[in-house]
Amino acid sequence: MAKRILVTGGARFIGSHLCDRLINEGNKVICLDNYFTGNKENIQHLLNHPNFEMVYHDVITPYHAEVDEIYNLACPASPIHYQYDAIKTIKTSILGVINMLGVAKQSNAKILQASTSEVYGDPVVHPQPESYWGNVNPIGIRSCYDEGKRCAETLCMDYHRQNQVKIKIIRIFNTYGSRMHPSDGRVVSNFIVQALKGEDITIYGDGSQTRSFQYVDDLIEGMIRMMQTEDDFIGPVNIGNPGEFTILELAREIIRLTDSPSKLIFKPLPSDDPQQRQPDISLAYEKLNRWRPEINLEEGLKRTIQYFKSL
Ligand code: NAD
Ligand code: UDP
Repeated sequence: MAKRILVTGGARFIGSHLCDRLINEGNKVICLDNYFTGNKENIQHLLNHPNFEMVYHDVITPYHAEVDEIYNLACPASPIHYQYDAIKTIKTSILGVINMLGVAKQSNAKILQASTSEVYGDPVVHPQPESYWGNVNPIGIRSCYDEGKRCAETLCMDYHRQNQVKIKIIRIFNTYGSRMHPSDGRVVSNFIVQALKGEDITIYGDGSQTRSFQYVDDLIEGMIRMMQTEDDFIGPVNIGNPGEFTILELAREIIRLTDSPSKLIFKPLPSDDPQQRQPDISLAYEKLNRWRPEINLEEGLKRTIQYFKSL
C-alpha cells in the first residue's frame, strides 16, 4: 500500500532526489521547504503529480500531518549557507527536529534524521566508525551546524527512550550530484563551475586535507534501506563512500574531466576545517543488506559535470 511520507528540505539537492525516488516507488509525498537554499525548479517536474504535494513551511514552526514516515533533511548544508545566519541554522536543526519528532510521535510514524559526518568534527580517529564521539569545537564558526546536528541526534535518542518514537539516524558524508546549488560554495560544485568557466580553481589551504565523496544516488539507496530496517535498528549509521581524496586530487580530476584551462590558486584555510574524513561503512554493509556505494568518483563527477553544463 502507498505510504504517506513527509520530506523536509525536499526542494534542493538531496531532498529532491529523495522525492523522485519515493514518488517513483508509488508513495504519496509531502515536500516541506522554506526555500532558503531550495526552490521550485528542483521539484518542478513533480508539482503536477497526483501523489506529490509541496508545502511552503519553515520547520522551526510547528507542523501537523498524518504520515507513515518522515525524512528530516531541512537544514542548509554548505558552510557558506549555514554560516550566513548561524542562529537560524541552529534553530533549524534543533527546533526543526523537535517539531518533526512531534509529528512522528502524534502519527506513530518513523523518522529518519539526516545527520552528518560533521558530528565527528576534525577527527583524530581515522576512518570514522559510529562509535567515535568526535572532536568538535563547540564555539567555532562551524559549531552552529555541527553542534546543531549533534543536539538533533540527542533529541532523537531522547524521544526514542522517553516516548518510544521510532527513529533512524544516518550520518551522511560529503555527497555531490545534480541539483546542488551552483553557488553554494561546496567543493565539488565550486570546482566544476570554476573549471567549466575557465576560472581559477580555489584551493583552501594547501589542498592536502581529505574528503570522501559520495554520489547522490548511492546515498538515496542507503537512506531508503535504512528506513526499511526493523524498528530496533536505529543507528546512527554512516552513509558515505570510503574512497578518500585530497582536495588537490579532486581539483586535478575535475580539470582533467572538463578539459579545462583553469589554474589552481591557493586561499586561506577557513577555521576548524577538518583535515581528514573517511567513513567506516562496515555497519551500513552489515545492517543495510550489504549496502555500499556503486558509483566511483570519476563516474559521479562525469554525471555532475553534465548537469552543470546543462544549466
Ligand atoms: P541543501 O542546502 O541543498 O538543501 C537543504 C534544503 O532544506 C533546501 O531546500 C532548503 O531550502 C531547506 N531548508 C533549510 N532550512 C529550512 C527550514 N528552516 N525549514 C524548511 N526548509 C529548510 O542541502 P543538502 O545537501 O540537500 O542537505 C540536505 C540534508 O542532508 C541537510 O540536513 C544536511 O545537513 C544533510 N547532509 C548533507 C550532506 C551533503 O554532503 N550534501 C552531508 C551531510 C549531511
Ligand atoms: N574547499 C576548497 N575550495 C573551495 C571549496 C572548498 O578547497 O572552493 C575545501 C574546504 O576548505 C574543505 C573541503 O574543500 O577542506 C570540503 O569543503 P566543503 O565545503 O565542500 O565541505 P565540508 O568542509 O563541509 O566537508
